[in-house]
Amino acid sequence: MVTGFFNKLKHAVKNTKDQLVGRIETLVLGEKQFSASTLEQLETILIGADIGVKTTEEILERVRQAVSRDALHDFDALAALIKGTLLEILTQPPPAPPAERKPSPTRPPAPPVPAAGQPRVVFVVGVNGVGKTTTIGKLAHRLSQAGQRVVICASDTFRAAAIEQVEIWAQRSGASLIKKSQGADPAAVLHDSLDVAARDRADVVIVDTAGRLHTKLNLMKELEKMHRLAAKRVPGAPHDVYLIIDATTGQNGLVQAREFLKTSGVTGLIVTKLDGTAKGGVVVAIARELRLPIRYVGVGEKMEDLIDFSPEDFVESLFAS
Ligand code: GDP
Repeated sequence: MVTGFFNKLKHAVKNTKDQLVGRIETLVLGEKQFSASTLEQLETILIGADIGVKTTEEILERVRQAVSRDALHDFDALAALIKGTLLEILTQPPPAPPAERKPSPTRPPAPPVPAAGQPRVVFVVGVNGVGKTTTIGKLAHRLSQAGQRVVICASDTFRAAAIEQVEIWAQRSGASLIKKSQGADPAAVLHDSLDVAARDRADVVIVDTAGRLHTKLNLMKELEKMHRLAAKRVPGAPHDVYLIIDATTGQNGLVQAREFLKTSGVTGLIVTKLDGTAKGGVVVAIARELRLPIRYVGVGEKMEDLIDFSPEDFVESLFAS
């Protein structure tokens, strides 16, 4: 199905497509046999696109098997094999190795649905610079466009600039913004936001949080306090905790993400700046390693540049002509 969103996605992944699919196509052009050297070059291309070592190994193994069955003769067959493998991983990431299964909370239960008349409370977490503020603005815009009443809670009181920035996005998207001065208690801002949400019968409260890593103990404690407060005020809140990951940071983003997963009760991922990288294959590594649903992807700096993530569309966009 070709939609406006699909075209946007296709445009965003163009560099990744050139680096990944374009180079593979050139590599196997006119080849009838897949030699050891072709496989080696294929490995380099796959690793270079940041899809991850395990997925690369899996694809190579499947290629070897297909070659030994004499079932791989051209680019189309290879493309079908790679597409199938990527889609499998994106839709059903392999289980974590036993050592990682506990006590990691990487498979939280499905987020609860807010009770009638209560707002959905969404926390947004991620380190500074990943596109957290922009994504909050885009989310607010989408929800407002869908007729929802949105309150943005400026709980990233750590940086004055963060409050100003999120205010601009609130104005653009038509959302209400609740803020206090720099250095104010983030939980106090949340408290006020939930008051306003109840008063105005808001549908959604989007909570900006400070860009923190778990090593900053006081900051993690602050986030825990906000979780407790949200749960006390609105049953089941926060209903979602979105972790923002910057696609341009490639595998490094994964390291940061794991730190958040340990402590922040993350329920879903948003991968930003897919348009700004040739290593968009990292989406596959993210799905595989973090085993959390990717909810949205950021494909530009504008308000409309946030799209629902669909594994099928993502894989299709890489191979579509
Ligand atoms: P924060 O520090 O995490 O709040 O990050 P910001 O929201 O301020 O974003 C940092 C930079 O990334 C800004 O220049 C944004 O315009 C840019 N940005 C955010 N999301 C995207 C995206 O999906 N695509 C592109 N190209 N740039 C983005």
